[in-house]
Amino acid sequence: MNGRTSLKGYIEIDREFCKGCKLCIEFCPKGIISLSNNLNQKGYHPAYFTEENTKKEKRQCTGCSICAIVCPEVAIEVYRG
Ligand code: SF4
Ligand code: SF4
Repeated sequence: MNGRTSLKGYIEIDREFCKGCKLCIEFCPKGIISLSNNLNQKGYHPAYFTEENTKKEKRQCTGCSICAIVCPEVAIEVYRG
């Protein structure tokens, strides 16, 4: 550990809005979004946040919002802090 305070983020993906286009997965600089094996009600494999159950200190998400900006379905909500 280098003792630097780094910004932590957290995202929520609305699985029913998601169309599984993978843009958020391709653009996330930390590679922490993945596609679910399950289908949503519209029949798409929705994206999910792989750090959903990760402790805050261990999360890599910076809250940079890139995923939310590129999502054409506006399915991603970003929280910082
Ligand atoms: S906010 Fe940034 S780091 Fe966090 S999941 Fe989205 S693109 Fe990745
Ligand atoms: S960019 Fe949006 S619609 Fe596309 S996979 Fe990610 S959350 Fe789903």
